[in-house]
Amino acid sequence: MNWKGHITLGILMGLPFISSPEQIFLLVAGALYPDLDHDVKSEIVQRGLYISGGLILVSILAYLFRPEYFNTGFFIAAILSGVIYITPYYAEHRGITHTFLSLGVMSIILGYLTFKLSVISPIMASLIALIMVTNNKLLGKSVAISVFAWVLYNMISTSFTTFQGLEFYIIPIAIGYLSHLVGDCMTPMGCRTLYPLNYTFHKKEGYFAIAIWVLLVFYVIKLA
Ligand SMILES: [Zn+2]
Repeated sequence: MNWKGHITLGILMGLPFISSPEQIFLLVAGALYPDLDHDVKSEIVQRGLYISGGLILVSILAYLFRPEYFNTGFFIAAILSGVIYITPYYAEHRGITHTFLSLGVMSIILGYLTFKLSVISPIMASLIALIMVTNNKLLGKSVAISVFAWVLYNMISTSFTTFQGLEFYIIPIAIGYLSHLVGDCMTPMGCRTLYPLNYTFHKKEGYFAIAIWVLLVFYVIKLA
């Protein structure tokens, strides 16, 4: 599946789970992250590694020479942002980033970082999550599609969920991520999502995952 398909599927599968339009950026970020393992996206990964490496270095230098400026939370955030990029850097295509294990870990890390940034502004923080996984070309296009979805969302605007705090950020990223795995299962190559088990998901399992998604939708509607 290409990026257009992934963005569209991510927004479609994610809309029942969001309560605020900026979460569309998070759905798209989750839907785009797994393909950072692709050679074409290596510039995004390298940029991310330079920035997170720089933040880690600044933190270590502060610790050594200006301990009064050292901040543990900042240091942890820098390490976590490094994990976001080091994983696709070493992954083979449709390898570790296309697994439920990575879905869990990366949604929590990216969601946590976005949550931390949201102290300044939830909308900016969500946009930064999207910037982290796109290059200029992809960012422009995905923002345009997100804004279009935003308009549609405002017209129907019935929120089933009101996730707060960390969940507000983690859940849309995880749903966007899930939509990516579902989309790739539907392709002939399939997807070995159950790592470390060596089992390939194909169309049949893809429909099964969609069935689980439908159940989740009913679940959040019932909660509302
Ligand atoms: Zn993929």
